[in-house]
Amino acid sequence: MIQAPVKVKKYGGTSVGSVERIRKVAGDLVEEHRHQIPQVVVVSAMAGSTDELVDMAFKVANRPRSRELDMLLTTGEQVSIALLAMAVHDLGSNAIALTGAQCGIVTDGNFAQARIQDVQTAKIHRLLEDGNIVIVAGFQGVTLDQEITSLGRGGSDTTAAALATALKSSCEIFTDVDGVFTADPAIVPEARLLPWISYEEMLEYAASGSRVLHPRCIEIAHKFNLPLQVRSSFKAKAGTTIIRKEILEEVAITGVTGDAGIARIALTGVRDVPGIAAKISQSLADAGINIRLIIQGIRHDQSNDVSLIVPEQDAQRSGEVLQPVSREVGAEEIQIDTSVAKVSVIGSGVASNPSVAARMFQTLAKKKINIQLISSSEVRIACIIEQDQLESAIRAIHKEFGLEQLERKKVEPA
Ligand code: ASP
Ligand code: MG
Repeated sequence: MIQAPVKVKKYGGTSVGSVERIRKVAGDLVEEHRHQIPQVVVVSAMAGSTDELVDMAFKVANRPRSRELDMLLTTGEQVSIALLAMAVHDLGSNAIALTGAQCGIVTDGNFAQARIQDVQTAKIHRLLEDGNIVIVAGFQGVTLDQEITSLGRGGSDTTAAALATALKSSCEIFTDVDGVFTADPAIVPEARLLPWISYEEMLEYAASGSRVLHPRCIEIAHKFNLPLQVRSSFKAKAGTTIIRKEILEEVAITGVTGDAGIARIALTGVRDVPGIAAKISQSLADAGINIRLIIQGIRHDQSNDVSLIVPEQDAQRSGEVLQPVSREVGAEEIQIDTSVAKVSVIGSGVASNPSVAARMFQTLAKKKINIQLISSSEVRIACIIEQDQLESAIRAIHKEFGLEQLERKKVEPA
């Protein structure tokens, strides 16, 4: 009979990036196993291996089909679960490695971005009761039709959140950083680790260039009120816990993030008539290009300038896709600029503190940083600036808001 509550843990690619690291993770798991703690462990592919598989796919084919891409990419996780289970055996504990399909992660049939529809837990419970550490391949599932699917790049986090929800357990994401910081410590050495953050804020971090957690994982955790803990797999430190905003003290801003991996596409002088934005966005959607931001500005000559922010790697293709559309909508020209970056301030108090925006813009002005585009939401203000000014912008904003001294408290016990 299981006594202690089940723990779901997820280890990212760097945490299992070498055989030594796999043995280290195995050691940590065995330690808890000896304390009778039932563990379900989700693992990513070893660092870099998914990228290598993608590379190979594009070397054998110009347009590999997504079904076979999923077939290929999901093998990375199969390597790491098998190695981790072997390392656990070697230390004298029982573990069993399961693919997504074997463990009952049922998804829809959208290859490359499948959504989890059901998590069958009977087998996991049985294996745990038999005294196993259950090691599950992240990022993958199976359709009712036995097709192997992947959840999209970075999707192992999502597997962990879905399993924790189904098992009504806690969820710890072990990674190569200590948690979520007020800014990237590589850019701002005095950045502080945030012990708590809300789901809404964390989603903005994920959308604003922080790659700590996959957005879908945060969405699932939010929906089911699952506290998610992000912590280092190399240090025994608490990290950051993501929880409901109602139990957090509201602070104007919790952090500043940057994203240099974007490009700005502008269609200038497009006709000011209904249906133009629809045409532009539909053509990019059809090409599978994700528009991160779209801004339309009015000119005084009955035409509009439309600016789009897309992932940098899609810049060239976006330009090609928009060529015919730009003629249709009467655009003067298409400009593509990959030397831009986005700097964002994030915090639960952004909407209720109008001074946040003013202070952010003034700080950039003082540094002579030109703002090309601005966008805001309840919990974020983002500015598009020149990429080579990004780090200086982050440092100046961090300082302006005194983030090196940020103390945020929980207002209600867990
Ligand atoms: N291995 C997959 C990737 O690199 C999934 C993950 O690591 O979360 O995207
Ligand atoms: Mg990841």
